Amino acid sequence: MDACCHYVMSTGEELLRSRGLRVTRPRLAVLDVLAGGGHLEVDEITRRVRARLDSVSTQAVYDVLGALSRAGLSRRIEPAGSPARYEARAGDNHHHVVCRGCGEIADVDCATGSAPCLDPNTAHGFEVDEAEVTFWGLCPTCQARRSADD
Ligand SMILES: [Zn+2]
Ligand SMILES: [Zn+2]
Ligand SMILES: [Zn+2]
Repeated sequence: MDACCHYVMSTGEELLRSRGLRVTRPRLAVLDVLAGGGHLEVDEITRRVRARLDSVSTQAVYDVLGALSRAGLSRRIEPAGSPARYEARAGDNHHHVVCRGCGEIADVDCATGSAPCLDPNTAHGFEVDEAEVTFWGLCPTCQARRSADD
């Protein structure tokens, strides 16, 4: 194991232990995949985990993602019309901008930083703890494609 890889592994172990989770190879592998960044579908996560470990079932990956999400180590998002995606960036109440053309997703920092970042005029007596904000539009690639088609 080289120094770089060892660093990643020990960080993953510390993360799991800090949340009271047992350290397992599938959990470390999923954390490592998510640490690579992006908003990944389960199929993609499973493919990358299998490149690191010999055999991992899709159900095992779902179980790991569930445990990591409950522990606040990953975040599950599900934009309308897209399968669920997971990311390592959790707990900072950031939002997403989603491309209507190709489904590309990018992070948008929350201006306020903590949920709920919008206050409804009336909440009908509800105690509001989150505003789910998703921005929709066209990514730069799809904008360029649209211009080329004109
Ligand atoms: Zn696009
Ligand atoms: Zn994100
Ligand atoms: Zn916000």
